[in-house]
Amino acid sequence: MSAQTIECPCGTVLRGADVAAVIRQAQLHAKSVHDMDLSDDDARSMARPA
Ligand SMILES: [Zn+2]
Repeated sequence: MSAQTIECPCGTVLRGADVAAVIRQAQLHAKSVHDMDLSDDDARSMARPA
């Protein structure tokens, strides 16, 4: 496991200790900030090593 980041199109960078954690962060961000449901697959495709 390695730390991961997802950069939202709005410029916010989410970070997690592993892929599952960063996906969860991105989904929370998408829902709370953009009122958008982000799928696991979409979030995973955006994840990059930190
Ligand atoms: Zn955003």
